[in-house]
Amino acid sequence: MLRSLLDQVFPWSCVGCGCAAAAALCASCRGAIRWIDSCCCPRCGLPLAGPPAHLCGRCIVDPPAFTRLRAVACYRAAEEDRDPLAIAIRGLKYGGRRALAASLSDLLAERLPFSPGEHDLVAPVPLHVRGLRARGFNQAALLARGPARRLGVRLDVGLLVRRRDTAAQVGLGESERRRNVRRAFAVRPGRRARGLRVLLVDDVATSGATADACAQALLGAGARSVDVLAVARTLVR
Ligand SMILES: [Zn+2]
Ligand SMILES: [Zn+2]
Repeated sequence: MLRSLLDQVFPWSCVGCGCAAAAALCASCRGAIRWIDSCCCPRCGLPLAGPPAHLCGRCIVDPPAFTRLRAVACYRAAEEDRDPLAIAIRGLKYGGRRALAASLSDLLAERLPFSPGEHDLVAPVPLHVRGLRARGFNQAALLARGPARRLGVRLDVGLLVRRRDTAAQVGLGESERRRNVRRAFAVRPGRRARGLRVLLVDDVATSGATADACAQALLGAGARSVDVLAVARTLVR
């Protein structure tokens, strides 16, 4: 509570280094972010050592349900206490610093790897109602605002529901992650996904298992395609 009060009184101190800044992240901390703008797997967005871009091994063997997953930056899990982007994301997710969402959402819109006209609807990865109650907001829904505005398409924060209160994915191996989120998502009764090209937004993508489970639910409900946009991607797989 103190933190969110401080956010309102002093909105402009850099979350990465604490300096007085004109934004949530100062120029030097923004400069320390490792953007993913180089070559990556065209399907899952995994950064590759160099061109030509080709499908990664996993997408050849076991392709995900979504068409493309793109994250704008790397999430340096091993340095999460020093990586300004990781600090900002954790501040938003676990520190209750809702004020950080707008800056991260703007950043996502500025670096958007998709073009207008490619999607009909933007939707966030949903939290379970219990998680939503505990946190007070769905960070992915807040992050999705900038991209939706930039693309000029509707944001439907209630398109998907999380049916099961799944355990946190942190610390799980890849197959455990998949098992953990299998059939955890559904299109909300009364909502239509049929024929739509959906852009799904999440904060951090690791194995892509959550995005894949959401994409399966959307495609099962008749969506035409599902792309995924994340602020950051961890490179541990
Ligand atoms: Zn800074
Ligand atoms: Zn891939």
